Amino acid sequence: MKRELPLEEDSLVLSQDVKTGLILVVVVNGFCTVGAGNLAPMKPDKQISDMVEESARLARLLCERKWPVFAFLDSHLPDIPEPSFPPHCIAGTDETRLVPALQWLENEPNATLRCKNCIVGFIGSIQEDDSNLFVDWVKNNQIKTVYTQICVLDFVSSALNRRILTPLEDVIAYSSAFATFDLPVHVARNISGALVHPQDLMHHIGLYMAKGRGARIVSEVSVAAL
Ligand SMILES: [Zn+2]
Repeated sequence: MKRELPLEEDSLVLSQDVKTGLILVVVVNGFCTVGAGNLAPMKPDKQISDMVEESARLARLLCERKWPVFAFLDSHLPDIPEPSFPPHCIAGTDETRLVPALQWLENEPNATLRCKNCIVGFIGSIQEDDSNLFVDWVKNNQIKTVYTQICVLDFVSSALNRRILTPLEDVIAYSSAFATFDLPVHVARNISGALVHPQDLMHHIGLYMAKGRGARIVSEVSVAAL
């Protein structure tokens, strides 16, 4: 099936002239660290560890150039579940924190961290005063291109159409920094209300959805020399 649905372009070199931002989506222990929780891998998982490594590499490249990074964390109150997901990333636990390879972002001046408590990053970015931290981030940094993972795509493509995110023009999904969790049938069956989520299939569907929403999918990213 994958051969019949080619999704990826080749490599892309980021130029110094185009202000670029990186959006990291829940690269937190609760999704990425072995044994950390219901949505974390149960054993070492190459798709996820590669994603973590590439996310960290790209975040470093951007921060060295003083380009902005926006990291969505995930955090839920115990009495407000997020169907169809089993309980995960309960506020105050280590599950909600960035993975060790990215924890330096907590003290990085070019990084903006936002705990979201719902699936869609745009909704999760609405603040008490009704301002939107994510929209402000794009506008204040005058970002033209963003690299993103899933969870924000639907919003970003619609927002581009509505010109809410001016000057943003280009949304790029980097396939090596894309991964999704595995919730196989035999595990989901034992968790009330959980929806089966086979990793390989959902990864492909995720990239397909990204492309379907107007993102470019690239398989390699490098940055032009300073
Ligand atoms: Zn969540």
